[in-house]
Amino acid sequence: MEKQAVQRAREAFLAGRSRPLEFRVQQLKSLQRMITDRQGEIATALKQDISRVIFNHTVLIGLENEISLAVSKLAQWAAPRHVERNLLTISDQAYIQPEPLGVVLIIGAWNYPWALTLQPLVGAIAAGNAAVLKPSELSEYSASLLKALLPRYLDQELYPVVCGGVSETQELLRQRFDHVFYTGNSTVGKLVMEAAARHLTPVTLELGGKSPCYIDKDVDLRVACRRITWGKFVNCGQTCIAPDYILCEPSIQNRVVEGIRQTLLEFYGPDPKSSPDYGRIINQRHFNRVMTLLEGYTATVGGQSDASQRYIAPTVVKDVPPQARLMQEEIFGPLLPIVTVSDIDDAIHFLNEREKPLALYVFSSNKKVIKRMLAETTSGGVTVNDVIMHYTLNSLPFGGVGQSGTGRYHGKHTFDQFSHHRACLVKSLGMEEVNVVRYPPQNRQKARR
Ligand code: NAD
Repeated sequence: MEKQAVQRAREAFLAGRSRPLEFRVQQLKSLQRMITDRQGEIATALKQDISRVIFNHTVLIGLENEISLAVSKLAQWAAPRHVERNLLTISDQAYIQPEPLGVVLIIGAWNYPWALTLQPLVGAIAAGNAAVLKPSELSEYSASLLKALLPRYLDQELYPVVCGGVSETQELLRQRFDHVFYTGNSTVGKLVMEAAARHLTPVTLELGGKSPCYIDKDVDLRVACRRITWGKFVNCGQTCIAPDYILCEPSIQNRVVEGIRQTLLEFYGPDPKSSPDYGRIINQRHFNRVMTLLEGYTATVGGQSDASQRYIAPTVVKDVPPQARLMQEEIFGPLLPIVTVSDIDDAIHFLNEREKPLALYVFSSNKKVIKRMLAETTSGGVTVNDVIMHYTLNSLPFGGVGQSGTGRYHGKHTFDQFSHHRACLVKSLGMEEVNVVRYPPQNRQKARR
């Protein structure tokens, strides 16, 4: 089944169907129409999968922006880019031509099931590829809706959806692709890279990790806490670039806690469990995993849970030791540990001792602090004085570094990720006399002339 889908996609690609720019634009517009026409069904599936619609819905708007950008810029992106020539090529044409890679595999994760499959697809279509989509089995309602809808709007052979879990994904990974684009955790990321290496297939790995959030003492704490609270607890903490933990000096820790407590009250009311804006953990396994992380700690804010609903209250834990379990793995849930550091040097040291994160957040009014944080640390992306927002600007490349991933996408970056940038030199057959310098026999004969 998986094999046939890949084969059909390859045949359709080789027949040249996906290449003409008009076709790509038409498919992108059709994808746009699908999102508009089917908003209601998509919202219901999201609600069934993850019990929360609003932010995931905002992500759909982001997706629409990606499509309209690709439609309006495609001719420009796909055009040859002429480059400088040297004396030997002065009368020739030298240019870089973006061309499709072929058949690509897009493996999505469950936390934003539509964006994480369709956003890469936008770039894959724009770049002229065929693409096999493998949505996450954990967001099963979205996965089956995607499988039902996509063939009604897009070319069925070029863009098949394969549903299933680990064995189906592994079967797909045994096939030969021209690029594999994977979003998910780093353990599976390694398996994906290993499988792709067998075919020398390049990969984009959009992984996760612990994204730190440093709050300087010189800052408007009210604003900082509002922004952090939003980014941490939206989608119940199940966002790859959610701030995973806070780093701050001991002198401001209690004020940070109070700021977050106040904001939680404002956002979700006194009982977040009954708030329509607060989500649930995706499944029982992840619920148990997050609850285990909390074992042995006393929550400063929140801490309540209800296994029957997979509900975990927005929770803050202060004075967490750096070596604690909460600080060893990505939380991916609504627990926010605060670790204290003595000063900015200590904070920078703390960050650089750990794996390179997907995102870094810095809150400060002090330009020198911001400058040092940017110059002396690294991360896939960084937002200063806010969280998550660098993701929303599609002129910025989105991706990780080191353990948080490889490759980048969004906007034109997705188009580039799914394109081969072919070096083209088109010479004329004239001016043969200048070539004598490179032909044998060398010096002796040339000296005689
Ligand atoms: P998941 O469980 O949905 O897995 C992702 C995909 O991998 C699924 O399609 C699944 O079928 C497949 N898969 C799972 N196990 C596999 C195996 N053994 N072999 C082959 N395929 C397998 O999602 P997840 O991994 O729980 O996602 C959460 C992680 O993803 C977090 O670490 C998060 O930070 C990261 N994430 C990153 C981004 C990003 O853009 N960088 C976005 C979202 C999530």
